[in-house]
Amino acid sequence: MPRAAVMPGPRKPIEVREMPDPVLEPGAVLLETIVSEVCGTDVHLHHGRLAGVPFPIIPGHVSVGRVLEARDVTADALGRPLVPGDVVTFYDVWGTCGRCWHCLVTKQPTRCPHRRVYGITFSADEGLYGGWAERIYLRPGVSILQLPDGVEPDDVIGGGCGLSTGFAAVERGDIAMGDTVLVQGAGAVGLATAAFAGLRGAACVIIIGAPNARLELARHLGADVTLSLETVPPHERDERIRALTDGRGVDVAIEASGNPAAVPEGLRLLRDGGTYVIAGHYTDVGPITLNIHTDVNRKHAQIRGQWGTEFGHVARALALLARHRDRLPFARVIGSRYGLADAGRALADVEALRVTKAVITP
Ligand SMILES: [Zn+2]
Ligand SMILES: [Zn+2]
Repeated sequence: MPRAAVMPGPRKPIEVREMPDPVLEPGAVLLETIVSEVCGTDVHLHHGRLAGVPFPIIPGHVSVGRVLEARDVTADALGRPLVPGDVVTFYDVWGTCGRCWHCLVTKQPTRCPHRRVYGITFSADEGLYGGWAERIYLRPGVSILQLPDGVEPDDVIGGGCGLSTGFAAVERGDIAMGDTVLVQGAGAVGLATAAFAGLRGAACVIIIGAPNARLELARHLGADVTLSLETVPPHERDERIRALTDGRGVDVAIEASGNPAAVPEGLRLLRDGGTYVIAGHYTDVGPITLNIHTDVNRKHAQIRGQWGTEFGHVARALALLARHRDRLPFARVIGSRYGLADAGRALADVEALRVTKAVITP
């Protein structure tokens, strides 16, 4: 019987449970988990900050595993042959319906009410639907992706869900070649955003964040300028960014911090007619005060939210990882590895920022 680290409910200790052996229905694939991630979302889940979570759950939404068994499945989502033994990852969203108003009319599948996310909105009572487990059950319809040649599990999981979220945020920002881009936040999403902004052709990528170890990683991933939240006060950040942009402000700013204070700062540092993407506010942290006249209306600013990711973001992010492995050393982001029994400690370490990317190796 496969073991899993189960989050029984908000603020309750993580328990290791034995789960029933899954029986594969046609179209299903069973993975032996190689590695899964611990991210900020898992911390939010543990604090009960997300609505509609069917506790108990097996956390771990982005994972890499080895195909143990595949029933009537012979290819991945891109049509590449799939056989037992292959190392794969998968798009963590299942069940986007393709028939609702969001899917059909406005073409915003990330707002589809039928979508469910591995590690977040599947109950452990339903089965092995999270990566903090020895096995992961991929039900029919899950989009599976072979890891491209030369891409290792650590490359993928070091970026984790931040890979696709950062990719999506960069796309949402419509960064033009030669733009100056500000990234707020140096967690997994901010780091990937900085990396992809550089690949997209930004002339200068500035990142504001903390602690210093994360800013160091940001430099390895392509950030040109790092500004520490801990040692560079807001007025100095303003001055530095004004100086870098001839006083005008950045072309695109991407919020990846989840900190409401970042939003007025980001809008203030945006040039006239610039684009501001909010990708870090996955949970409700309350309202903020903005000067709508100076920072939005007179500035002629565009503000865009980025909710969730689509399969294409994952597939394209992986393709870039394969092409630019030297420029995207996400494996270096991995700080510590934890077994299932230590999943609670992993959560505490992530929450306390003791580790940038914690991973679970069941
Ligand atoms: Zn739908
Ligand atoms: Zn995540």
